[in-house]
Amino acid sequence: MSAALSVLNRTFGYPQFRGPQQAIVEHVIAGGDALVLMPTGGGKSLCYQIPAIVRQQQGQGLAIVVSPLIALMHDQVGALHEAGVEAAFLNSTLDWQQTQEVEQRLRTGAITLLYAAPERVNTPRFLALLDALYQQGGLGLFAIDEAHCVSQWGHDFRPEYRALSVLHERYPAVPRIALTATADALTRADIIERLQLQEARLFVSSFDRPNIRYTIAEKGKDVTGQLLRFIKEEHAGDAGVVYCQSRKRVEELATVLANAGIAALPYHAGLPAELRQAHQNRFLREDGIVMVATIAFGMGIDKPDVRFVGHVDMPKNIEGYYQETGRAGRDGLAAHAWMAYGLSDVVNQRRMIDESPAADEFKQALRGKLEALLALAEATDCRRVRLLAYFDEASTPCGNCDNCLHPPEVWDATDCARKLLSTIYRIQQASGLNFGTQHTLDVLRGKSTDKIVQHGHDKLSTFGMGPEFSELQLRAVLRQLLATGAVGLHKVQLDNGHSFDTLCLTDASRAVLRGEQPVRLRASVAAPAGPRERRQR
Ligand code: ADP
Ligand code: ZN
Repeated sequence: MSAALSVLNRTFGYPQFRGPQQAIVEHVIAGGDALVLMPTGGGKSLCYQIPAIVRQQQGQGLAIVVSPLIALMHDQVGALHEAGVEAAFLNSTLDWQQTQEVEQRLRTGAITLLYAAPERVNTPRFLALLDALYQQGGLGLFAIDEAHCVSQWGHDFRPEYRALSVLHERYPAVPRIALTATADALTRADIIERLQLQEARLFVSSFDRPNIRYTIAEKGKDVTGQLLRFIKEEHAGDAGVVYCQSRKRVEELATVLANAGIAALPYHAGLPAELRQAHQNRFLREDGIVMVATIAFGMGIDKPDVRFVGHVDMPKNIEGYYQETGRAGRDGLAAHAWMAYGLSDVVNQRRMIDESPAADEFKQALRGKLEALLALAEATDCRRVRLLAYFDEASTPCGNCDNCLHPPEVWDATDCARKLLSTIYRIQQASGLNFGTQHTLDVLRGKSTDKIVQHGHDKLSTFGMGPEFSELQLRAVLRQLLATGAVGLHKVQLDNGHSFDTLCLTDASRAVLRGEQPVRLRASVAAPAGPRERRQR
């Protein structure tokens, strides 16, 4: 029996390796570098814990594990102790004396895995400690958990991760394993470059979570009501997490849910630490708690029986969506990811990107990522196929998403889209200015508002050209056009310091205007009365 399998059986009590674990473990034990992409719950910890144990048994020294999450470090060290493995952590929760004690144990070679917070690694004191251990012949492995934190393209950038390249520079002979549950092609490339993992072997597991059912609903006027119905009809009494974009929204929604008889608690970084901790403890220990939270909640929280994850606001990108929804159903039983999205989400997210002080190239990347998520939300075919394709994984329709279960009707919105673009064009041509969404829609629908009369826009050839379209329909078409970049947003700054977004044409508008680029939409909100086209399967 191999040393690795023996540790798996005897120390951890598992009969066999799961998925690519064995290949990873053997590669790292043999001294190779590895980059491991494995979904949440896939079993990443053993991929470095077993090599750490085996390499120490072979006299190569201890493993240093960099982990950004203090709670997770505590859990892991606790679990390792229970399994009889000597482990310790160094982070800000230790006082001076405790730190001394850990350092002492390290020097005597009594520790197999040392967990350290990333901000600690690049300190003179820690590097001196590593030097001492190295000289004793005692550095067997570097493990870098949550490696996507090194990438600013990822959703959880931590600048301290950039400094981790120091490990490789100072100790090039020590093998490294970097692990993450989320990395699209861009993030993956960034991890490799930033951590100098060009020589590392890449281990990519399937990112599919077959037990999670994906549902993405269009936001109506009352998204809270939609969420309430979803919880009451499909998940009464279940534990769940509902993500919101802002703290204010978290508190409001938690109150509404609680008033509706759901055991809901708020969680965001603005709450006092004790309250946050108390809510988290209740979520972990009690049954059927619904945590209403910002994305401050979730990383490192390992509750296996979360039955649903809801989003009442859209995340920033598919990686965020995947990571957050991935917290549902870690026990492998049926679970549900439910999201509501709408035009306001698109506009808000776009504005946040536009207003950020980042470089243009970076903003462009963020916009691209947002558009990919919108394309997923607007998709009329299998959600899972789309989601996995984003992670470069090919698959076939899953039978366990809203689109597979209830194929949506599609509406050919090309004509509507052309009218909308023409209206934007005519307004701009007549006034030399861009206008906002509401004004544009009013022109197209032929409403003689004061503003329209004042600007003479009731004289435009497109005025009243689309009376058959409801505002909701037009907004859905506009959302699709924004998502695909056929409509751009142009910010107008007012003297009073306020600013607003106006609609403008882009290079991508032309193909749609000419009718060369069809626009197909979900019919649910978007199709006008009249014949609808059944989706081709
Ligand atoms: P990740 O860090 O990838 O989210 P973990 O390392 O926390 O996942 O593992 C998820 C769960 O799967 C844990 O409860 C772990 O003990 C279990 N697990 C991991 N590998 C195996 C295995 N080979 N056999 C059985 N259970 C495993
Ligand atoms: Zn599907």
